[in-house]
Amino acid sequence: MASFTKQDALDYHESGKPGKIEVVPTKPYSTQHDLSLAYSPGVADPCLEIEKTPDDVYRYTAKGNLVAVVSNGTAVLGLGNIGASAGKPVMEGKGLLFKVFADVDVFDIEVDETNVDDFVKVVKAISPTFGGINLEDIKAPECFEIETRLQKELDIPVFHDDQHGTAIISAAGLINAIELVDKDITQIKVVVNGAGASAIMCTKLYMSLGVKPENVFMLDSKGLITKKRTDLNKYKIEFAQNSELVHLEDVIKKADVFLGLSKGNILTKEMVRSMNDNPIVFALANPVPEISYEDAKAAREDVIIATGRSDYPNQINNVLGFPFIFRGALDVRAKAINEEMKKAAVYALAELAKEDVPEKVNAAYKSQNLIFGRDYLIPKPVDPRLITVVAPAVAKTAIETGVARKSIDNWEAYRIELMK
Ligand code: NAP
Ligand code: MG
Repeated sequence: MASFTKQDALDYHESGKPGKIEVVPTKPYSTQHDLSLAYSPGVADPCLEIEKTPDDVYRYTAKGNLVAVVSNGTAVLGLGNIGASAGKPVMEGKGLLFKVFADVDVFDIEVDETNVDDFVKVVKAISPTFGGINLEDIKAPECFEIETRLQKELDIPVFHDDQHGTAIISAAGLINAIELVDKDITQIKVVVNGAGASAIMCTKLYMSLGVKPENVFMLDSKGLITKKRTDLNKYKIEFAQNSELVHLEDVIKKADVFLGLSKGNILTKEMVRSMNDNPIVFALANPVPEISYEDAKAAREDVIIATGRSDYPNQINNVLGFPFIFRGALDVRAKAINEEMKKAAVYALAELAKEDVPEKVNAAYKSQNLIFGRDYLIPKPVDPRLITVVAPAVAKTAIETGVARKSIDNWEAYRIELMK
């Protein structure tokens, strides 16, 4: 599957300067004069201005373009609880993606703390440094409380990408898939396999886009989440159904949508065949999906399938979202990334998939003719239009919903600026 060896990956990380990102000065520093402005005594003046007018921290420091990627290493990729240090390559990688896709600077912060109160305290204490906090790879259910509390207590965006990133990108795919098969979002039966961080937030977002709670069937490792179960945490209970069913093979019959955020190879061809006409299968477990692209297509011709894999069509990849969502939020000095801003990103991504694809994107995918349809539901990560479409949609919605500290008057100029 992978086109590289373990040694390639280790060499990539070990070669050259340590790590994957570095700090680079942004102001002149070659003369004594420059240095006396950069540091003492010149630096005292912006300090005093900020003391007088706290929002001036955005004028005189890096805050407005700086995001903390914060993790305690308790749910790193599919590797589990490997700890703060072992998660650092992932957080540095996220920093690299923020930088190259949206010119957002990142400090990766690995926090050796699993207690919720203490973790929240640490992040809160360091928050003045940043214009936004991207929580990363923190295990469920703790991640829910950590995010909610930080959102309440801080006046900068706090966004747990493992929850919302997947939700936003897959929701864009879902609304386009539903449109293609001409179904009504308020009528579809959705089976969600998995009840972790990403599954719960995807389901909540789908419901806010129109899916009816009574049409959602969520399963965890013990089977369908029902009102009879006594082992459920408060996040799962919200999705409990009145049903006697337990097993996926029974629950999935006549479903319109399967969303998998669980484990590889658990959806069989027979199960796909038992779904409704034109079934939509989002098999997102990484690196091995709940069902492979080939098996889903072999099960039936009318299936629409998306996975987390870059080597198949319809890759649900968070990089379509977080760089541009933070770009838009930072550019208006947003106090939060609220639900409306997330939905704006969903619709922006969904709409972009319907536009003609630039040659550059086709070329990157070896001259496939990418046209909106069953095998092209959402844009590709290399699409240069993402930043000019998603960031303004998010920024505009931040202004409209009253969470922006700064306005943008000339949207055309802003888009041109984003393309640089
Ligand atoms: P998580 O918080 O650990 O949740 C995993 C969930 O799957 C748990 O609720 C678990 O049940 C459930 N589960 C495990 N085995 C199951 C089975 N046989 N049948 C039904 N449910 C089962 O993990 P996560 O962060 O949500 O991620 C889940 C998967 O999605 C991972 O493979 C991850 O790589 C992938 N993912 C992909 C994307 C993407 O493609 N963009 C984004 C995010 C996550 P219990 O609650 O009973 O333990
Ligand atoms: Mg992650």
